[in-house]
Amino acid sequence: MTPACERAALRYLHWPAHAPSRESDLISMHTSSSRPSGPAHPERSLFRPDIDRIEGYTPGEQPQETGWIKLNTNENPYPPSPAVRSAVILATEGRLNIYPDPLATAFRKKAAALFGVDPDWVLPGNGSDECLTLITRAFVDRGELVTFPYPSYILYETLADLQGVRHDRLLLNADWSWNRDRTRPLVERSKLAFVPNPNSPSGNAWTRHEIEELIPPAGMLVLDGAYADFADNPDGGDVLRTQAGARVILTRTFSKSYSLAGVRFGFAMAHPDVIRGLRKVKDSYNCNTLSLAAALAAIDDQDWMRANVEKICGTRARLIQALRGEGFHVVDSQANFVWATQSEGGHREIYQRLKDRKILVRYMRFPDAADGAVVDGLRITVGTDEEVGGLLSALKEVLA
Ligand code: PMP
Repeated sequence: MTPACERAALRYLHWPAHAPSRESDLISMHTSSSRPSGPAHPERSLFRPDIDRIEGYTPGEQPQETGWIKLNTNENPYPPSPAVRSAVILATEGRLNIYPDPLATAFRKKAAALFGVDPDWVLPGNGSDECLTLITRAFVDRGELVTFPYPSYILYETLADLQGVRHDRLLLNADWSWNRDRTRPLVERSKLAFVPNPNSPSGNAWTRHEIEELIPPAGMLVLDGAYADFADNPDGGDVLRTQAGARVILTRTFSKSYSLAGVRFGFAMAHPDVIRGLRKVKDSYNCNTLSLAAALAAIDDQDWMRANVEKICGTRARLIQALRGEGFHVVDSQANFVWATQSEGGHREIYQRLKDRKILVRYMRFPDAADGAVVDGLRITVGTDEEVGGLLSALKEVLA
């Protein structure tokens, strides 16, 4: 943007309180070089109040230079299947001048076959976060309630705020279990409940029975399976086949188990009536030619994905044992990260001292958890054995 354009854009966002009445006034708003000022033109934001009110979601740090041991945003440390590279190269040599398949037909067929459903149960998205956005936009109206466990993935709350709807936290017990009495009344009033399984930041997984109890009787349950492939019993979507399954939406991502965080691809899976409604909300071409090619090749190479998941689960077991040896309390993780805490606290300092050594983990703090507690700790992504070795030796120095 040129400086003149930037100034014009700024003026546009801060409109005078009395709106221009004539077209000529409107044009001068965009083009005149002097900003409206002074009491005659008190400025007010043009954003919806819901947008002005919120901070917006802050993603984990993404240093762009190399040399970091990066264990803060749950990426896969291993490269994607070599078939992905070939497929993307082939796609670049193809017809990039035309729009991609708006229905992602080839991908939907593959994903459907993997989960034993028909292709009209599948809706791909630009990362599973996009699926979560589409679901919120499609289902929740003013005055309706969105719920989600807490501590958990903070984006759910941001999505509800962006939609301008009510939200409430399903407060988890200190051991990450559900308090049925506390949760049930909120679930009964929910239009939409988001539940990640395994949960983040804890990494624990809840049982099928616990999950089924969270289906709102007059709403939808979104079962966010971003980390499902790392669980001992990966969720194969069985809940969709139950009687209440028509009120469940599963979401999956290619950012974790398939090593494609940079590509942005995920999908939702639900009854075809649900998918049909969600399709009305999405951009026509929400997944691009290159990401579709990458996802198709990745999902086709299950052996590659499973081998990486197995390596990560092996490293996870060693990391948990070593952290416990250092005196941390670590939740038994079913995901590609672990949640580590010390009873004496000091988590933020540990995070900072590791960062000083170019090792990034995620420091997370959740105020107002159950019984007014503050929950904080370190969420550490499971990297390669070498990265985890680097972390552990730095940790020894930091703790000494
Ligand atoms: N759900 C959870 C619980 C996550 O932690 C993440 C990753 N931040 C996502 C969904 C989104 O993943 P993506 O948009 O990369 O598919």
